[in-house]
Amino acid sequence: MTDPIRRVAIVTGGSRGIGRAVAVRLAAEGYDIGFCARSESAAARETADLILGQGARYLFDACDVADHESVNTFVKRVEEELGPVRALVNSAGIVKDNALVMMPVADWRSVIDTNLTGTFNFCRAVGFPMLKRRTGTVVNISSVAGVYGHATQANYAASKAGVHGMSRTFAKETARYGIRVNVVAPGFIDTDMTDQLSDRARKEALGMVPMRRFGTAEEVADLTAFLVSEQAAYITGQVFQVDGGVAL
Ligand code: NAP
Repeated sequence: MTDPIRRVAIVTGGSRGIGRAVAVRLAAEGYDIGFCARSESAAARETADLILGQGARYLFDACDVADHESVNTFVKRVEEELGPVRALVNSAGIVKDNALVMMPVADWRSVIDTNLTGTFNFCRAVGFPMLKRRTGTVVNISSVAGVYGHATQANYAASKAGVHGMSRTFAKETARYGIRVNVVAPGFIDTDMTDQLSDRARKEALGMVPMRRFGTAEEVADLTAFLVSEQAAYITGQVFQVDGGVAL
């Protein structure tokens, strides 16, 4: 049945990697897409073209997810120009790896600010109108590092574990109002983020994956799109790993 309300999704970090794959996938599923990244770039324009290629509309703006006011402004603009936001996928994220005792405080703060506070900022900004409309779904992209920890990633693992606790709480607060909140926790996925790994680190990472390969952004998008869809109507407050068996 055709949805009577035009569907709009916001995807943070949509210029590249997992965010782009999710944006394009949701566009193919009939969503118009509001997406943001830190800055305007050739990559962001490429995502926009891919969205248009799916026959969907898009709105792009440079928006630092860690900046509460910028996030509010971005969400307001998406609602005004595209329509009521039905789905939110928080994919923007950064790494700044170092052993905990060597970690500059600034690197601790910026990773927490982007990955955890950024996710909070968008959940808060989008959650309020969703509550008023009694409908909506949120998928937060975390990481298996938030489940198991990962040496040199105290800041990153803490930010992602924080996303788990925040998402479960948000799910409990909103389930009775028709809102679902879930988390997708990827393992090693081939994107610019993992391109930064040295050959040695990549080999070590592959050794941790029973499937002996990195995942693709599209494989993460597949699960994300399912969780956004009505097929996942009875699923909320869960953390799902897409990791080639790292958990085993
Ligand atoms: P990526 O290729 O490095 O892309 C990161 C995206 O986040 C870019 O669009 C970037 O925008 C955006 N971004 C970063 N900081 C931002 C900020 N402050 N405000 C707005 N946008 C910001 O990363 P990815 O691999 O797709 O990762 C996506 C998500 O999956 C992240 O949350 C990451 O932690 C998680 N994850 C990734 C892996 C993996 O192996 N790749 C594994 C587990 C979890 P610009 O283009 O402007 O820089």
